[in-house]
Amino acid sequence: MNNIKCYSFPRTPKEALSVLLNKKANAIAVAGGTLVAKTLPETVETFLDLKNLPLNHIKKQGGDLILGATATFDAIDNSKLAQSWAGGVLSHAAARCSSQLIRNMATIGGNIARPHSFNIFPAVLLGLDARVKLLSEAGVKTCPFSGLYGPGLGAGPGRDLIILEVIIPARTKNWVCRFEKFARTEASWDAYLTLFMGVEIADGSVCAARVIVGALSPKPFRAASAEQILSGARLNPGVIEEACLELARCLDTAHQHKADEFKKEVAATLLKRFLESLGQPA
Ligand SMILES: Cc1cc2nc3c(=O)[nH]c(=O)nc-3n(C[C@H](O)[C@H](O)[C@H](O)COP(=O)(O)OP(=O)(O)OC[C@H]3O[C@@H](n4cnc5c(N)ncnc54)[C@H](O)[C@@H]3O)c2cc1C
Repeated sequence: MNNIKCYSFPRTPKEALSVLLNKKANAIAVAGGTLVAKTLPETVETFLDLKNLPLNHIKKQGGDLILGATATFDAIDNSKLAQSWAGGVLSHAAARCSSQLIRNMATIGGNIARPHSFNIFPAVLLGLDARVKLLSEAGVKTCPFSGLYGPGLGAGPGRDLIILEVIIPARTKNWVCRFEKFARTEASWDAYLTLFMGVEIADGSVCAARVIVGALSPKPFRAASAEQILSGARLNPGVIEEACLELARCLDTAHQHKADEFKKEVAATLLKRFLESLGQPA
């Protein structure tokens, strides 16, 4: 913080990018400032404040739900549009952020810019097949959310790239989804486990299933083999049991080391409760 010499307030994404690309400025993007202030690299000399950019919208466009990068957790929690999407899972997830003070300031762009195990939105966005719209020296491009943490993005979000929007595809609007944060207390920042669960049901069968595990590693992961058991199946106690056992196995196989037994049990129980709540005929 001692090395900050300049505070910049761009009004357009293009103007903001030009500050980031100016090597002499040594700039970093600041949105809500809740995380960057704690993790500021020593070399940074310019704070590039994103608050005046026209990016705090939550709107529908061509059937998709669009969340501007500077939309806060509180705005997403209270947005009628977000509440009406996929059973309101985005709003429920936003409400699980640890405190109202942080929800007032923290933005969705800041939450996804860097992988951290405590971040809430990455698991939800992976589950909803989200895409992100980015602005870099190469221009505007849209990529799957998972691509945000892949190679080939230069110095990354906030250093030479600006996240403009998160795009939630139209096909997920009527999915039945749930986000669970299993933590020591409601106000805990970190969690033992987060779980996004989503299904699309047609004619009594599951046609799309998403089971995403967060908090065990900086990047959330898909429990693909558990999803496969559910896809195309009619939900009955046997299928539910099999999917839950498989989810517990995924927690072990996703990393080099075995997951804690209680985390496997919690994940399987949360999935079972979710699937049973769907009330599908056996
Ligand atoms: C007390 C406390 C409790 C917290 N509790 C939770 C919690 O329960 N759940 C949770 O998920 N997080 C929590 N956090 C972490 C943090 O608040 C969130 O990750 C928040 O979403 C960060 O958003 P921000 O707008 O404040 O980002 P900032 O701090 O402004 O920036 C974070 C990073 O993102 C980059 N960045 C921001 N916006 C953009 C953009 N549009 N384009 C490119 N790069 C960008 C910045 O350069 C920086 O590297 C907590 C933090 C604190 C201090």
